[in-house]
Amino acid sequence: KLHNTILELKGNIRVFCRVRPLLPDGENNGVEGAALSYPTSTEYLGRGIDLMHNSQKYSFTFDKVFDQDASQEDVFVEISQLVQSALDGYKVCIFAYGQTGSGKTYTMMGKPDFLEQKGLIPRSLEQIFQASQSLLSQGWRFKMQASMLEIYNETIRDLLNPNRSGSQDTGASKYLIKHDANGNTHVSDLTVVDVCSINEVSFLLRQAAQSRSVGKTQMNEQSSRSHFVFTLRISGVNESTDQQVQGVLNLIDLAGSERLAKSGSTGDRLKETQAINKSLSCLSDVIFSIAKKEDHVPFRNSKLTYLLQPCLGGDSKTLMFVNISPEASSTGESICSLRFAARVN
Ligand code: ADP
Ligand code: MG
Repeated sequence: KLHNTILELKGNIRVFCRVRPLLPDGENNGVEGAALSYPTSTEYLGRGIDLMHNSQKYSFTFDKVFDQDASQEDVFVEISQLVQSALDGYKVCIFAYGQTGSGKTYTMMGKPDFLEQKGLIPRSLEQIFQASQSLLSQGWRFKMQASMLEIYNETIRDLLNPNRSGSQDTGASKYLIKHDANGNTHVSDLTVVDVCSINEVSFLLRQAAQSRSVGKTQMNEQSSRSHFVFTLRISGVNESTDQQVQGVLNLIDLAGSERLAKSGSTGDRLKETQAINKSLSCLSDVIFSIAKKEDHVPFRNSKLTYLLQPCLGGDSKTLMFVNISPEASSTGESICSLRFAARVN
């Protein structure tokens, strides 16, 4: 490892909460947001969030709380060092967790066509390519490889080759996850693309977004029911010193965490919900047992945690965003999300 640039970490896991603004067309603009407030005492300033629910107050603290006025730039400033550490040879995971509509995709991807609203995926990639350029003069040569996949109902779908993965008959042997002794992950048949510039990755991101939206019409809003995993593998060699680094940056837009009304879900929908709940609770179990330094970490209980196993725990670095909707009607779900995040914090 080159140098430990990272902010002091509690273990290697940090949790940031982000509240999205009320949306312009919201039916109950104004009063609705009042169920949510931020403590003003210096101890909790920028770290605390309070919610009122059924005349009870629920208080949470995190490593950082971004209110509705936080811009994409404000958020990125807080994570740029973490992103940088992937170039220094660390394995990094950044997750967005929350109910559908709470701002996960806005936080991760943003609106790439509007400069100021670009999310942390495009910003991270810009930073990494810029930094790798500036390290050229010190003898560093970097090789970057990108892959993008979706996990839906515990099945992997290659977003850079969606048609092949769509075929059911050959599904069984595809996308087997293997970890080698060096902590590198291989997913059989998954498209992995060498990328040399931000433009190349942007092109792939658009391709992946298109693959996801095709699935959406065919498969009942699949995009909010599946986990999106972007992986950038970074290998660096210094030509003058022979130093080597191998970092990984995983950026994950998780499936919506909302619980469906029990009576309303049957058949495929029920199976889908169970798969999501299972994989999200597995993620929580894994992060929790890593934080508690338990001997047994149940990585194998879900595709997502098994896929990311080498990038969770050890000296890797994890950041979880918990995204919150401000409407009073979402308070129940928000408290569930905050509890989930407070558990892993
Ligand atoms: P999710 O991915 O969690 O389902 P989205 O990211 O799609 O939620 O957000 C839902 C809507 O709210 C989108 O129209 C998005 O552009 C908007 N939105 C979310 N967060 C913000 C924010 N911080 N500022 C402005 N608009 C936001
Ligand atoms: Mg989304």
